[in-house]
Amino acid sequence: MRFGELRATLPGMVLPDCGLLSPELFFAIVQQSPLAISITDHKADILYVNPAFETLTGYDRDEVLGENESILSHKQTPVTVYHELWAAIQGKCAWRGTLVNRRRNGEAYLAELNISPVLNEQGDISFFLGIHRDVTEVHALEKQVHHQKALIESVLDSAPVVVVLFDAEQNVILDNQAYKKLLGDLRGCEPAGLFLDALRQEGVDLEAICRDGLGFAETEVRLDIAGRVEPR
Ligand code: FAD
Repeated sequence: MRFGELRATLPGMVLPDCGLLSPELFFAIVQQSPLAISITDHKADILYVNPAFETLTGYDRDEVLGENESILSHKQTPVTVYHELWAAIQGKCAWRGTLVNRRRNGEAYLAELNISPVLNEQGDISFFLGIHRDVTEVHALEKQVHHQKALIESVLDSAPVVVVLFDAEQNVILDNQAYKKLLGDLRGCEPAGLFLDALRQEGVDLEAICRDGLGFAETEVRLDIAGRVEPR
């Protein structure tokens, strides 16, 4: 598609003053974007798609022009998601979410989709701009990491010791049941912070240990818990 054709397709399109950048250049950027971009009317009937949209969905431009975006629906996304989507965009707000989409060949994919209303000079909705990418692989990897974390935690849960893994900001990344019990005993006060403070008081140089990849052993710290006779 050339810029002139798009201009004819989108009557009433307001072209802002782009300074040194011409509208043709903006069009070339959209055409060459690696993200699937579509422009629709107020009912989501498609007026424009870029080449990345064709590659991702498997549909040629001429097959989808005039069709509703629902052509991409795999009919697996809960209808409440569409209610939220339409409530947001008709309220002139942008919407971002993940939908189950279907390529031309029937293959399902997870689409991370952004929709923004394009307003005219009167502030009314002229078009909707949709930008989406395939996040199927990212989602599968996230699920895999989640499963692996659950597996590691179930192994750690069977250990009769407190185990906790935290990052440099002391955010807990992984823990076990014994740690969670200690957290309960401390009434929600994060044991990791107390433990690190106690280690520092024992003279353990935690920064050097982290920096040099060293460990430490044979170091005892004592946590006195309010309301309990025995220390931990
Ligand atoms: P329907 O039964 O037609 O709609 C389900 C519900 O959606 C309805 O009950 C209603 O609450 C709401 N709804 C649908 N159309 C309208 C409307 N015109 N006005 C108000 N509410 C409405 N959908 C996808 O599945 N994948 C996409 O990639 C995708 N991209 C989109 C990009 C843009 C720019 C826009 C504007 C919409 C996009 N949609 C997409 C939404 C799509 O247009 C359909 O609304 C959706 O696919 C549901 O269609 P359906 O035929 O499955 O169900």
